Amino acid sequence: AQTRVANFGAGPSALPESVLLEAASALINFNNTGIGIAEISHRSKEFESYIRNTAQLVREILEVPETHEVLFMQGGGTGQFSAVLLNLLARHRLLHPDIPEKDRVADYVVSGSWSKAAYTEATRLANGATVRIAADSRPHSADGKSFSGLPPHSSYSFSPDPALIYYCENETVSGTQFAGVEGTPSSFPFHLLPDKPLLPLVGDYSSSFMSRPIPRLADHAIIYAGAQKNLGPAGVTVLIVRKDVIVDVDAAAKLGGAPIPISLAYKPFATADSMPNTPSVLPLYISGLVLKRIKALGGVRYYEQFSRRKQERVYGVLKEGKERGVLVPKVREGEGSWMNIVFGINGEGAEKRFLDGAEERGLKFLKGHRSVGGIRVSLYNNVTDEWTDSVVAYIREFVEQEA
Ligand code: PMP
Repeated sequence: AQTRVANFGAGPSALPESVLLEAASALINFNNTGIGIAEISHRSKEFESYIRNTAQLVREILEVPETHEVLFMQGGGTGQFSAVLLNLLARHRLLHPDIPEKDRVADYVVSGSWSKAAYTEATRLANGATVRIAADSRPHSADGKSFSGLPPHSSYSFSPDPALIYYCENETVSGTQFAGVEGTPSSFPFHLLPDKPLLPLVGDYSSSFMSRPIPRLADHAIIYAGAQKNLGPAGVTVLIVRKDVIVDVDAAAKLGGAPIPISLAYKPFATADSMPNTPSVLPLYISGLVLKRIKALGGVRYYEQFSRRKQERVYGVLKEGKERGVLVPKVREGEGSWMNIVFGINGEGAEKRFLDGAEERGLKFLKGHRSVGGIRVSLYNNVTDEWTDSVVAYIREFVEQEA
């Protein structure tokens, strides 16, 4: 245990030590079967009941209503960039078979590099449907091209009857997040959505899943999250899908558009307890252990308070460092993520000095994403209070030195 260091990685990221120890023993013998969890059949009754219980834990912790299914898939967030578009275009085609394909519209809110990546994938796969940007934060930044905040509410323009409305709740690279508090200028503008029942609203929650309650969860068609931040190892994607989105994609393909690979269609997953084929057994097992722990600690309300306190301390020291002329926040105040805090450092070679010093102190993976540089402090659920205090103390010491 003494050999473990403070891991501020953006994902994969830290897991609770108690979970890792339990998983280590299950690698040898899962549930008294005499077979390890990486070896056991996904069709064994032990694993079948485990995956059902894991879905049930997601349902309980997030209070998922009966209108929605909890599914597990593979392919990560990137797989869902494709899946959400293809399944929702299929749904739209079945609902409105007579509309020409070009009049099926997918609306994207582009607030950072991940929503931009989802938009780009949609343009690749649209196959005649229209993909548009419903809001973009870049024109509202100081240099007109960076993701330094959220789009202002006045800049949104949603289509009247879109096949899909897409946003990314927490932008892991640029470090912006929609406030959990509805009605504030940095919240997702639910009040501006088209006035239609069963909105095709999609939220990418990859990097904030389970860190606090999901506002208006029931109004979403799809919420998805790769496990590798707050939940478990990479290799499993959690989905909360409203039942009207679970459509017969082959029937839709007869009406036009491209056929959908079966591994990306929601229906086979919904009808087979997420196991139309072999799932990621080990990542699912570990995610299940983490979910049990989340529930035991008090659920997302507990993590909301925990994250609130951690981010306050890091944004606090960032503000001090800015006032001293050393640190440069990259996101407008009030629009920053609780999970990924990004900043630059003034001065020749200063970022390297910062990262070298951090390394010496056992504070790991503080380097910003390769596309934007700078520093990124990720404060996922398994980043402890002690680790947070250590990084805050180190930042303060560094500012002192450089000022
Ligand atoms: N969305 C967000 C918000 C992410 O942070 C990431 C990856 N870190 C992705 C999507 C892509 O996920 P994956 O690497 O699992 O494809």
